[in-house]
Amino acid sequence: MSTFFNSIGRSMTRAPRNAKRSPTPTSATFPPEAQQIKGTPPQQPQAQKPLYLCSPFVEAALVKGNFKTIVMLPKYVDIMEWVAVNRCVRCLFDFYTNLNEFYGVLTEFCTQQNCPTMSAGTTLNYTWINQDRKHVHLPAPTYIDYVMTWVQNMLDDDNVFPTKSGQDFPPSFPSTVKHIYRQLLRVFAHIYHAHYAQILHLRSEPHFNSLFAHFLAFGSEFELLEMKDLRGSSSAPVGVGSLWERWKGMGILGG
Ligand SMILES: [Zn+2]
Repeated sequence: MSTFFNSIGRSMTRAPRNAKRSPTPTSATFPPEAQQIKGTPPQQPQAQKPLYLCSPFVEAALVKGNFKTIVMLPKYVDIMEWVAVNRCVRCLFDFYTNLNEFYGVLTEFCTQQNCPTMSAGTTLNYTWINQDRKHVHLPAPTYIDYVMTWVQNMLDDDNVFPTKSGQDFPPSFPSTVKHIYRQLLRVFAHIYHAHYAQILHLRSEPHFNSLFAHFLAFGSEFELLEMKDLRGSSSAPVGVGSLWERWKGMGILGG
């Protein structure tokens, strides 16, 4: 995957030229849902539409073409075999590391005050299951800190991700990877929902969109993503579920 991430680096300078940038925010306080930014020409009157679904940002994925081809593998390998190889584990590491870096830049905005809940849609707040198996609401920075610490511990655990060749993978490995995927998806979903204005301000939307598109393509190719996690429920839809639909419609994700 190093080629992919290298290509992201190269492509950082290839953001759409006509992309109008947001004016410099003068306040660290942003509305929970990103509204149309002043200065962005409203091509259609879509007052409530999240920014990440607005042109040109929705197309701001750098790597042109179909993300599916990037993750395609020979058909004879099953998920267990393939996910087990170091190359794939490296992929998970890369998703985790890149997402962690992005979030690190956003921590000054993602505070207990700005994000008292782990929001990912106008009516969606994720809950964390605590040690007593109770669903609890946590501020987003706390939730994300828990997720990132948990994933890091998983990735470092030789019993979960065996690093020695010939070492058996535990039977729970596929479900563990799915669980990691679900939680990382939630972090993406929160960032898109609550912090896209800051992503735009940092001019990172092409890079961030590429990372997320790759995450989605990889996840659907290896069936690590549940549709219900991507879409949410009808009463509490996931914001990025719409982005996923758009990208699928644009042929970015293949399938
Ligand atoms: Zn936040």
